[in-house]
Amino acid sequence: MHSNNTMMQYFEWYLPSDSMLWNKVAENAKHLENIGITHVWLPPAFKGAGGKNDVGYGVYDLYDLGEFDQKGSIATKYGTKDEYINSIKKLQENNIKVIADIVLNHKMGADETEDVLAVQDDATNRNVSLTEAKPIKVWTKYIFPGRGDKYSNFKWNWTHFHGVDWDENTGTAAIYKFYGKHWDENVDKENGNFDYLMGADIDLNNFDVIKELKEWGKWYYNLTNVDGFRLDAVKHIRSEFFPEWLDELKRNTEKKLFSVGEYWSTNIEVIRNYFEKTNECMSLFDVPLHYNFYRASIGNGDFNMNQIFDGTIVGLNPDKAVTFVDNHDTEIGQALESWVLDWFKPLAYSLILLRKDGMPCVFYGDYYGIPEKNVTSKQKILDILLKVRKYYAYGEQYDYFNDKNIIGFTRLGDSEHINSGLAVVMSDACGGNIQMNVGKKLANTVFYDCTGNMSETVYVDNEGNGIFYCKDGSVSVWIKKEKAVN
Ligand code: CA
Repeated sequence: MHSNNTMMQYFEWYLPSDSMLWNKVAENAKHLENIGITHVWLPPAFKGAGGKNDVGYGVYDLYDLGEFDQKGSIATKYGTKDEYINSIKKLQENNIKVIADIVLNHKMGADETEDVLAVQDDATNRNVSLTEAKPIKVWTKYIFPGRGDKYSNFKWNWTHFHGVDWDENTGTAAIYKFYGKHWDENVDKENGNFDYLMGADIDLNNFDVIKELKEWGKWYYNLTNVDGFRLDAVKHIRSEFFPEWLDELKRNTEKKLFSVGEYWSTNIEVIRNYFEKTNECMSLFDVPLHYNFYRASIGNGDFNMNQIFDGTIVGLNPDKAVTFVDNHDTEIGQALESWVLDWFKPLAYSLILLRKDGMPCVFYGDYYGIPEKNVTSKQKILDILLKVRKYYAYGEQYDYFNDKNIIGFTRLGDSEHINSGLAVVMSDACGGNIQMNVGKKLANTVFYDCTGNMSETVYVDNEGNGIFYCKDGSVSVWIKKEKAVN
């Protein structure tokens, strides 16, 4: 029987540095399968500059998956290499595909400095240089003393990078581009040219670098047997790179690898362009939809709910959209903070989990809570919505997006899933109702709200029409009454 796909991002920014995540996800693999998770996105597994405190994006050594005594410990923030590989196995034994987080834009925590010539670029327009080339001292030499030559004898030096943001001689933070180098052209145009993000920016035009990263990709895939990739910071990487890198991996496996990229932009034209340039070799996280959710959640009831899908990736390219509500970067205290407020979370999750378009991604911080920021667990409502997704969210979809406050949609169900079909109604302001049609298959039945928000029942007439309600700032998910889902 075909079931809906659902991803879970299995980490949040403020997890304790106890190296226990790989064990936790392995222990929970069965539970995740039971609630309907089909794909788990695990955090970057390689050793970061911050050692056990590194969330994983400050990549130091791509070949150190918690195996070598580097940056203060053998284990990473999430555990050891063996625990990582075991967690992947456990997830796969429970029919869950594993998505590895891949960070190839930059490196951090170099072992030694080098003296180089560099120009300083204007931080807000990197096409403009502010100085002539001058000598600076940079952290660009990676010799990996703890690993030596195991797996790869490639040692990084300044020629493998475009630039850095720190001169050790003068203690100055600025955008430094190495003399003779240029930022890649096919990157995001924010700040003139957004090739540079952080750390030592990897030169993805350098022949030796490309060769090494392809070799590394094959090594990583063969060692871990993951099922796909979450590609970090793709807007800072020339658009030709990943199609080529993924092709190389696909040539080496029978498996259909799934990839999703993080292109952090709300500009749908920019995103359309990226899909074109990369031949749709990857899905993209629906960042514009996240910001619509965020704006609705802080809108005090004034957001036009009719427009909740305007300018989104799921609207543009539904087969290539990974929809999400929040992630590790949007959390409170992070650079991209745009945390969707609690009251709106059930509405937002209904909009990604119960509709036919997009692959939804549930955030760890929503499911388990974020103790560090006093964010409570939303497991109760998420378990209900995930169950509805798994058993009821099938078939054709009718939209009722005619009001700036109250919107709704129905799914007509299919023959494969018994009693499937549903009616969702929500409001960011005053409650109310919408007459909606759930199809002939569900005609002459009684519906109830499985979220528990409304205790009344709704009669669906012989045409499949019913009048479905929700309360103020709330969502109700109506399904056929017979078999309670919660
Ligand atoms: Ca870059």
